[in-house]
Amino acid sequence: MFRRLQYRYKTAEQVLAIRRAGLLTERICSAVRQRIAPGITTLELDRIAQDVINGAGASANFKLEPGYTHAICVSVNDEIVHGVPGARVLAPGDIVSVDAGAELDGWNGDSAFTVVVPGGESTMRHRRETLSAVTEQSMWAGIAALADARRVNEVGTAVERYIEDQGDYGILREYVGHGIGRSMHEEPAVFNYHVRMPGPEVRPGLVICIEPMVTDGGEETDTDPEDGWTVRTSDGSNGAHWEHEVAVTDGGVWVLTAKDGGREGLAPFGVEPSPIVGGDTPGEELTA
Ligand code: MG
Ligand code: MG
Repeated sequence: MFRRLQYRYKTAEQVLAIRRAGLLTERICSAVRQRIAPGITTLELDRIAQDVINGAGASANFKLEPGYTHAICVSVNDEIVHGVPGARVLAPGDIVSVDAGAELDGWNGDSAFTVVVPGGESTMRHRRETLSAVTEQSMWAGIAALADARRVNEVGTAVERYIEDQGDYGILREYVGHGIGRSMHEEPAVFNYHVRMPGPEVRPGLVICIEPMVTDGGEETDTDPEDGWTVRTSDGSNGAHWEHEVAVTDGGVWVLTAKDGGREGLAPFGVEPSPIVGGDTPGEELTA
């Protein structure tokens, strides 16, 4: 009950190494994002991601999950997470969540975004764009909360509060964020809702993935019995998923999977990213 979480805080040098995996993951996400359009298949998106990973001399960390054979997950409409790339053709107005990652020099990146394919019926498109925006902003609210949190679980309280203030949305309970480093999934669990336990201490060297998974309906999900992976809303409502990998630094937080370290996303919350200076990470990446 009161077991002590064995979280291993990272050194500044390790955070800089994880940052390189994070920036590669950002490149994968933007390469895939640029190609999302009506007519492309989800398997083609997977190949685009794999090409970026191969070009960087990295490996696809999603393939280290036993039984998973793709570089990314692509989840469409009522699918929220763990959608398996395949023959599905994207259509105008589809809401598409892409979860991507890479392992570089033994360190892991992990990030996700949601977009709505241009076109389609305008009422549904607006509903889906709003869902994605609420989910993204709840992620930034959680990252901003981490900047002056004492305990990790303050993140989930902030994420949930943000979402509740926006209207009638559901937050997945069975799927949560996580610590990351040598493995893609490490302690601690990072909840997207308030829990009573405080979680580990927030101090420099904590590296976690904050990844709200939100619906415009209920919170119940089912896993596809055929592929064993795809998670869908039980009520057929739409799903969205945003994720960033974030390090706690001496001065606050640094978003490792954003080129600007999180500057733009954190600005509405009055938080400035606080990078680790040094190593061989070029400073211009912070202003790109
Ligand atoms: Mg992910
Ligand atoms: Mg993750």
